[in-house]
Amino acid sequence: RDLTMTFPGRRSATGRRGAPVRAVDGVSFDLAAGRTLGLVGESGCGKSTTGRMIVRLLQPTSGRVVLDGEDISRLSQGALRPLRGSIQMVFQDPHSSLNPRQTVARIISEPLLVQGRSAGDARRRAAELMELVGLIPEHIDRYPHEFSGGQAQRIGIARALATGPRLIVADEPVSALDVSVQAQIVNLMERLRAELGLAYVFIAHDLSVVKRVSDRVAVMYLGRIVEIGDKAALYANPQHPYTRALLSAVPLPDPAAERRRERIVLLGDPPSPAAPPPGCTFHPRCPKAQEICRTERPLLRLAASREVACHFPGD
Ligand code: SF4
Ligand code: MG
Repeated sequence: RDLTMTFPGRRSATGRRGAPVRAVDGVSFDLAAGRTLGLVGESGCGKSTTGRMIVRLLQPTSGRVVLDGEDISRLSQGALRPLRGSIQMVFQDPHSSLNPRQTVARIISEPLLVQGRSAGDARRRAAELMELVGLIPEHIDRYPHEFSGGQAQRIGIARALATGPRLIVADEPVSALDVSVQAQIVNLMERLRAELGLAYVFIAHDLSVVKRVSDRVAVMYLGRIVEIGDKAALYANPQHPYTRALLSAVPLPDPAAERRRERIVLLGDPPSPAAPPPGCTFHPRCPKAQEICRTERPLLRLAASREVACHFPGD
């Protein structure tokens, strides 16, 4: 609810601090048990920061994270501990998120040992988890570098599953992997969701990756959600010009359709969150921008059965 993260401005060479940077600005969404929200946007849009606030790797500047009616965003680390296992994170680069000096047994057991499980018990559970994610349990005493990128991400997923979470925030879990391996990991995550009743916040920088896994999709731009709604409706008929542009970059499987369709090429890079443009922050890049867009910020409101932050939603 209204998650906001403001980072202090960077210090310049002269020692003066720049203006504070609002990396995330009033992000709200609901996520039901067993469902997946795809969180999409270009790098720097605040999607990872949002994910990190949800798992409490970052304390939000303001706003709340409510789990089963309880606001967990202000709990002390001590009070948070019993809930820690309920929300876990899977990281983008599997190899750098695994300690190279620990065996897989150690990596996966760690959260269980923290919970007070015995070493033998934790090791048995780690072997079961390896099997669950499609790894060979006999490889339990190997080190991360002995695994491929895809296998390493399976280890990261097994570690996240160790405490029996209900929600996993997956921050670009397949972006660092070979294209041929991406589908395998996405399929694995889908199977685990169905078998274990997990909910995911699935973060990605493009709309093609989240298409298979999401029930709903939220598109972020410069720290805010600009469109959020049911996946099918959003893909079939995107309402925000930014969503339309992102979707037009997703390759279509049918080559004839691919040749026919229009490509919306966005001008320039996203502006710096340190100096967001006035009005609609997308206006300098928007092909539909009008005068009002330069001065008045559009708020999320209902359009075509979803929420859109645009003065001129639709075609
Ligand atoms: Fe484009 Fe205006 Fe809509 Fe912003 S409010 S996305 S500038 S049309
Ligand atoms: Mg990121």
